[in-house]
Amino acid sequence: MNPVYAAMGTTIFEAMSARARATGAINLGQGFSDGRGPEAVLKAAADAVLEKSNQYPPMPGLIELRQAVADHYARHQGLNLAAEEVIVTSGATEALAASLLALISPGDEVLMFQPLYDAYQPLVERAGGTATLVRLTPPDWRIDQAALEAAASPKTRLILLNNPLNPSASMASADELAAIARFCVERDLIAICDEVWEHVTFDGHRHLPLLGFPGMRERTVKIGSAGKIFALTGWKVGWMCAAPPLARILAKAHQFLTFTTPPNLQWAVAEGLATQDQWVADTAAGFQRARDRLAAGLQAAGYVTLPSAATYFLSIDLAASGIPLQDVAFCDRLIDEAGVAAIPVSAFYAQSPVTNCVRLCFAKQDATLDAAIERMAGALEGLRSSAGKL
Ligand code: PMP
Repeated sequence: MNPVYAAMGTTIFEAMSARARATGAINLGQGFSDGRGPEAVLKAAADAVLEKSNQYPPMPGLIELRQAVADHYARHQGLNLAAEEVIVTSGATEALAASLLALISPGDEVLMFQPLYDAYQPLVERAGGTATLVRLTPPDWRIDQAALEAAASPKTRLILLNNPLNPSASMASADELAAIARFCVERDLIAICDEVWEHVTFDGHRHLPLLGFPGMRERTVKIGSAGKIFALTGWKVGWMCAAPPLARILAKAHQFLTFTTPPNLQWAVAEGLATQDQWVADTAAGFQRARDRLAAGLQAAGYVTLPSAATYFLSIDLAASGIPLQDVAFCDRLIDEAGVAAIPVSAFYAQSPVTNCVRLCFAKQDATLDAAIERMAGALEGLRSSAGKL
């Protein structure tokens, strides 16, 4: 039995969703939308099952989808990727696994940022690497150059960056990204960039891919997910983009993980990327309205919320809201007493957790958000006077 897994529980997302299902709580925990996704993309997937091949597609992905991803990034982010530099994977999760397996040699250090997506550390360790963690903190979660330098060692080979960052809902600024790019170039590091939230950005913020910064074109793996772009999280169609020498190695890891991804979903995503720019923009605007609705409702009830520049998430600051509970205890009480499931942000820290923030998913219908606000408003006084119950 491998110790990395032996010591591990079920992910907090699965655990909270299961509790929400069991108790009938409103689930603002796990990050998924309750919309249907773009109709044209759903229909393309259904049609492709009936009309196109359902046998193994090419290992690196359908060329139509690889080209559609390259065109999409040329249009939206000014990148000049060739179709051959895109490898289709079964979700961003597989792209992360393939990149880490392909690029880590035993003993390599991988620099990552806390809060960190839960899959990162087990994947790094299973690939034989050591995680080195840079701790980011609310309210602005800034990446500090000195902290980067302090975390690096001669064994550092890779940096793994999630931007926009889940769960903090923050985006790295152009200055922070330029500093990371310089750091990678100076130390000859490869950057793996998990950019699955690149289209779920608000208030006119544009996503800046690290791959586009000076010196990064040949040393960056850019990871994306159709699950996030089209709010179809169950589809698990993702990709990793990298210059040919890197892409060749990544493809080798991918071929023995999943080898391919269902062809009908690949066709549908190719069609979606080519035709659904307006849907993607309108949907992000809808998420922004949902964010504002949840933030305004919670604030009116007396909760203090943190800024949310991207993703499906908004965090409440417990201490600032006058709640003398740590995040895990708060989430336990919230699901039992208010019937609302949320995620403690400390679950995203491997060391020295931030314990005063709780993440809520706002990618829900207005009526669901309103009901959650009402329940949380009703529970606030009880939660505030809970010091003795800690
Ligand atoms: N990375 C981050 C930061 C995520 O938030 C998610 C999904 N919640 C993933 C990766 C996984 O993406 P996929 O479902 O495409 O595997």
